[in-house]
Formats: sequence, structure tokens, C-alpha cells
Amino acid sequence: MVTLPIYMDSHATTRLDPRVLDAMLPYLSEHFGNPASRTHAFGRKAAAAVDAARCEVAALIGARSAEIVFTSGATESNNLAIKGIVAASDLRPCHVVTVITEHRAVLDPCRQLESNGCDVTRLPVGPDGLIDLDELARAITPRTVLVSVMVANNEIGVCQPIAAIAEVAAARGVMFHTDAAQAVGRVPVDVDRLRVDLASISAHKMHGPKGVGALYVRRQAQARLTSIIDGGGHEHGLRSGTLNVPGIVGFGKAAALASAETNGALSRIASLRDRLWAGFQTRLTGVHLNGSFKHRVPHNLNVSFAHIDGQALLTALDDVAVSSGSACASATDEPSYVVQALGASKQRARASVRFGLDRETTEAEVDYVIDKVVRVVTRLRDLSPLSDELSEVGRDPVVEKQLGGR
Ligand SMILES: *Cc1c(COP(=O)(O)O)cnc(C)c1O
Repeated sequence: MVTLPIYMDSHATTRLDPRVLDAMLPYLSEHFGNPASRTHAFGRKAAAAVDAARCEVAALIGARSAEIVFTSGATESNNLAIKGIVAASDLRPCHVVTVITEHRAVLDPCRQLESNGCDVTRLPVGPDGLIDLDELARAITPRTVLVSVMVANNEIGVCQPIAAIAEVAAARGVMFHTDAAQAVGRVPVDVDRLRVDLASISAHKMHGPKGVGALYVRRQAQARLTSIIDGGGHEHGLRSGTLNVPGIVGFGKAAALASAETNGALSRIASLRDRLWAGFQTRLTGVHLNGSFKHRVPHNLNVSFAHIDGQALLTALDDVAVSSGSACASATDEPSYVVQALGASKQRARASVRFGLDRETTEAEVDYVIDKVVRVVTRLRDLSPLSDELSEVGRDPVVEKQLGGR
């Protein structure tokens, strides 16, 4: 038995865990104090809750609590990291290296800096979605102040080799930021093992509340970062404004739950994702995996169905919540820039569908989604004048190779 509609869009957001809500509620009512008001019990109660949450968030990523700066989410964290490092540097014009497949919350701040005279290099990716480390090393110049590469992509789930990238940046004395919004709380992320200097996190991508996130700033990096929001000097002067206490408490609870439950759920989520992919492959022709299978978070599957328009498929999948491209791009009609960056045609990018599982996904839901997608794709292809060409659409050789190597 499944309850409809089925939610399979966990890259856009995740359900607030009921235990997180329970932790938050008192801080929306009786414990309403301002954590900056340390002269009385109301303020101290709120401050203690924020301190505890800071420890939980830090513990989840192997950081120290003094290295966590609370923000309104990963978008703000990315802006603070990128604009803040550039603003703190004396080098002019300075240079930032990022990747063509990054989230808009990285690409748009970079574009903004570019219009103010900063140079930006956007590295390409291969058909597997991965950057080339030699190309990264060649892109770094004496004026490079920051390298920003995400842990896991929000559309295709591909994981970049973060520790190796950090090593290239460190060898040249360049700060390294990673947008870890799709990874933290879903897969193990340890900032020391990965040697990142800054990392962006979002609570609502890990069953926490919306509107709260954090920027991890390594202690040695704090002097090399300038605030972008000023007024009051909260968060070591790096992010002013009265703290979102209920949100932060919920973020802390979500982090504690992720610390306790994520590792145990990893293989189950991966096997459900593999079941989904196997279901499409055995029952349909013309299915293409977008990006590396091996270097991918366990909860992601991004597939193009040949001769199907992604939007038409989403409309027909009325009781299954998935998306084509990212949530941010869903409002526009442009085919995914991430899938196109893999070398895919506009048509294949337009045919891409992103499936996002999470720790609440069940086997019955996966089986329902397989059946529904197979039926809908078959029906849409029967209606399509292009369906005769389907037999010519073999499997993607890149994907075949990756699967063979697994
Ligand atoms: C969701 C997401 C963001 C934006 O996070 P918000 O907390 O919603 O601002 C940034 N980067 C990535 C990779 C994301 O998945």
C-alpha cells in the first residue's frame, strides 16, 4: 500500500521530521527570548538552545562549534563564502574558479562579482559530470582567491572528488569552498578529512526547517572572510541579525537525527535507487542515465527518456512528485544547463527527469513509481510521431561502461 501522491523530489526539499517539529515548538512559544540578551533567563534559555544546536551541526560535519556561522540557508551561505572571501582579499582584480554545473546560488554570486571586475573561470565537466583535476590546477593563477566546487550536484547527484580538489587548492594557497547542501545529512561529510575551508549547509535538505542553514568556516579562514550582512556583530561579526532560534533548534535536531540515522539508511536508500533504475532499464528502451552512476549520492537518479518531453512526463505523472531540472529552473522553460553540460543535446536535456529519494522512501513507493513511469512513457511514445525511431536509440555507451565497471 502506498499513500498518494508520492514525494520523490528530495533535492528540492525534504519533509520536516515530526521530531524536529517537536523540538522547535517551545521556541516558537514560551522560550521566546533573544539569545543576545544574556542578562536574563529568557535570553540565556535561547542562547543555551542555540549553543546546543551549534554543537550538533558541528558534530555532523566533524567541525568545532566556533566554526559554524548560522545563516538563512545555503543560498546565503554561498553568497557569504564567495563574496566574503573576495571582499577580504587585497588582490585586484581577483580570480575565482568554479564549475559550470554548480547551483545557481554559486553561479549567480560569481556573475555578480564578475560584473564588478572579478575574473571567474567556470570549469567544464566530462560526460560523467566530473571535473578534470589537471584542468583545475591549470586554471589557478597567482590572483586566484577562491575555488568553489560542490560536493553533490542537485540535479544529477554526481559527487566531485572533494578531497583531491582541496589538495590542489591548498597546494597553491587558495581557499576552498564547497556547497554541501545536497550532501550534508544525506551522506557522511567530514570537513577535516575533506580539508575544505568553507562549506554551505541547508537544514531543509535534511528534514529540518526552511529558512535556516550554516556556513562552516575553518578557524584559520575566519580572518580571510568579510561579512556581507552587518549590524550588531552576531556570529563572530560574520552574520549580523537576531538569530532564528526555532529554526536553529530544528536544524540542530535534524543534524542530531542525521548523525544517528544517516549511515544506517545509506545502503537501503541506495538499493531502492538501484531498484528504480533497474526497473526502468528492464522495462523500457531508450533510457539514459545522466552523469556517473558510481560517483553519485545514493538518493539520486537522473534519467532521460528518449523522445519524451520532461514537462509532458511530469504532467502525466500526476500522483508522483519528481522534477525536470532543478526546482529553481522549473519556473522557466529552459532545458537543464547541468544535463547539457554533460554534452547532451537540448532534446536529451529536455527529456531529463530527476528522482530524489530520502530516508522515508519505501520499496512499495519505488515499485509504484516504476509502474507509473513505464505506463506513462509507453503511452506518450505511442502518441509520438517519433516513436518509430526508438529502435535506433541504443543505450548510452558511457553509461554502459560505468555500469560494467561497478
Ligand atoms: C537547495 C540548494 C541550495 C539552496 O539552499 P537554500 O537553503 O534553499 O537557500 C544551494 N545549493 C544546493 C546544491 C542546493 O541543493
